[in-house]
Amino acid sequence: MLTYQDVLNDIYQKIEPILNEGKVADYIPALAQVNPEQFAMSITLFDGSSYHVGCSDEKFSIQSISKVFTFTKALSIYSTDLYKRVGKEPSGNPFNSLVQLEYESGIPRNPFINAGAIVVTDTLINNYKTLDATYSEVSNFIKEISDNKNIDFDENVCSSEIKHGHRNLALANLMKSFNNLDNNVDDVVKTYFKHCSITMSTKELSRAMLFLANHGTDPITNKKFITSSQTKRINSVMLTCGHYDASGDFAYHVGLPGKSGVGGGIVAVVPNVMSIAVFSPRLNSWGNSLAGTKALEIFTTKTNLSIF
Ligand code: GLU
Repeated sequence: MLTYQDVLNDIYQKIEPILNEGKVADYIPALAQVNPEQFAMSITLFDGSSYHVGCSDEKFSIQSISKVFTFTKALSIYSTDLYKRVGKEPSGNPFNSLVQLEYESGIPRNPFINAGAIVVTDTLINNYKTLDATYSEVSNFIKEISDNKNIDFDENVCSSEIKHGHRNLALANLMKSFNNLDNNVDDVVKTYFKHCSITMSTKELSRAMLFLANHGTDPITNKKFITSSQTKRINSVMLTCGHYDASGDFAYHVGLPGKSGVGGGIVAVVPNVMSIAVFSPRLNSWGNSLAGTKALEIFTTKTNLSIF
């Protein structure tokens, strides 16, 4: 019988020939400095056992994966009131698109596109009062769910994002003009960038996502972070919106709730079974890890562990 380790080893073998395909995100210059042909995949099970292949200890920029954590925090604070400020429908548009935001009066389609995560950050600043407290609460939450105090952000990536963040600033300004941003535009966007520039390895990310596979409670420590109903919502939004305008494609090929980031990471959840993280920096044309998406597709095909 094949073990999970056999499956991961086999995936790595199948993925190796395509590690040179796709393009590293270079609109954030600091991200373009990573070694592009890295690959890692980790899974964590409810009994605490975990399996890894590739550079699973290598920390990388989690980028939009942070949107799962900020959305979780905001949903647990504001519950359904959050949806007065941000929707929960797929956007069918690129992650940083301005067009839809204009004709939908500054209400972003969902918390996983940039505009949505910027609004979510604004609601967190309202709740925690200061920028430092907002960052600390988000990073403390990540430390708690990953049961690991060793989580930080990358100053270099953060300042590179700030220097080249024209489009995110445009999104934030547009929302401000529609009265959908309470705090100072620069402050909100900088805090959003700080969340995006948090670094974690696949080992850490797969551990961090486990509560979302178990109705909001960490099956290892038994700590309850959110309700079962909130967990259902977050996983649903990951399934329908977690990969921007390729969310349908990801659901079709992988069949799991997941969230990608332009740093090359993807997290995914197999409800009641495990959580998964993959990393490979070269992206497909939608901005999702090319090899990472393929690895997840092979994983669910081989193990039959898709939700469908
Ligand atoms: N920090 C990135 C940006 O705002 C996040 C995008 C992503 O990971 O998809 O452009």
